[in-house]
Amino acid sequence: MRIDLHTHTNRSDGTDSPADLIRRAHEAGIDVLGLTDHDTTEGWSEAEEAASRTGVRLVRGIEISTRYAGAGVHLLAYLPDPDHPGLVAELDRVLDGRNSRLPAILERLDALGIDIAASDVRRLAGDAAALGRPHVADALVERKVVRTRDEAFARFLGPGGPAYVDRYAADLVATIGLVTAAGGVSVIAHPWAGRHDHRALDEAGLSALKAAGLAGVEVDHQDHDTAARAELHRLAQRLDLVATGSSDYHGTGKIDHDLACNHTAPEQLDRLLGLAASAAARSGRTVPEVVGGRD
Ligand code: AMP
Ligand code: ZN
Ligand code: FE
Ligand code: FE
Repeated sequence: MRIDLHTHTNRSDGTDSPADLIRRAHEAGIDVLGLTDHDTTEGWSEAEEAASRTGVRLVRGIEISTRYAGAGVHLLAYLPDPDHPGLVAELDRVLDGRNSRLPAILERLDALGIDIAASDVRRLAGDAAALGRPHVADALVERKVVRTRDEAFARFLGPGGPAYVDRYAADLVATIGLVTAAGGVSVIAHPWAGRHDHRALDEAGLSALKAAGLAGVEVDHQDHDTAARAELHRLAQRLDLVATGSSDYHGTGKIDHDLACNHTAPEQLDRLLGLAASAAARSGRTVPEVVGGRD
């Protein structure tokens, strides 16, 4: 069983259409795929249709931009009702924050002598509902200011960079509550990734978040080294949190995140889907948990 629970399409900052993502997942031998675009469910219907034509089982998700103890945290929400009013309203606020940040980023680039038009960024963002810094990076690549998205983040767009601008993010604890109310389950994405200060996501923090309804943590992720993965696995076990693994695939938008480069163990997926079924039942929903697949 190959299970990859965190991927992106061009509805946010990935480069594949949802149908292409499903096709590539099928080619990569993936049995269960989580689609988790940033802050939007726009890609779900196209992916569902594609999944129903292949052997890939689709777990519909969203990677929600949240904040906890002053730091940004990405929350993977699986199988929530996409029409839940509270969840829709919060995602709208986050998407508004993405749009309203763009002029501020372009002003900073302008001050550095780099003239990029908002219309160019939006053209390059194409079908994306969630506009992000990667689309600004694409405009910098088009202008030949940089060669890759990675270089754009390193030189301009990353935290501390000369064109970095913060944006609105949802409150983590409140969002976990919203996801539960919408009949879904929550998993913290790459909790110990990179340069961020994630000291709040230690044993005490994760334990408090579990009490607030958190179902799991993403353990096997490219942004976690071997030691971090081992420690997070132990922590997940101690706290009885589901431990997932995934690629965080972005198509050609992010290097070293190939489909299925990490995966989730079948028993962990079963636990996650069991929790999702309970949440859905409590919220009064009867929708199928997973679509597509032939088993
Ligand atoms: P934003 O959503 O606008 O806050 O931008 C953050 C997104 O940019 C995340 O989804 C990352 O996947 C992506 N990202 C961050 N660093 C890089 C990088 N060095 N190269 C490509 N994409 C990146
Ligand atoms: Zn992304
Ligand atoms: Fe993320
Ligand atoms: Fe992601």
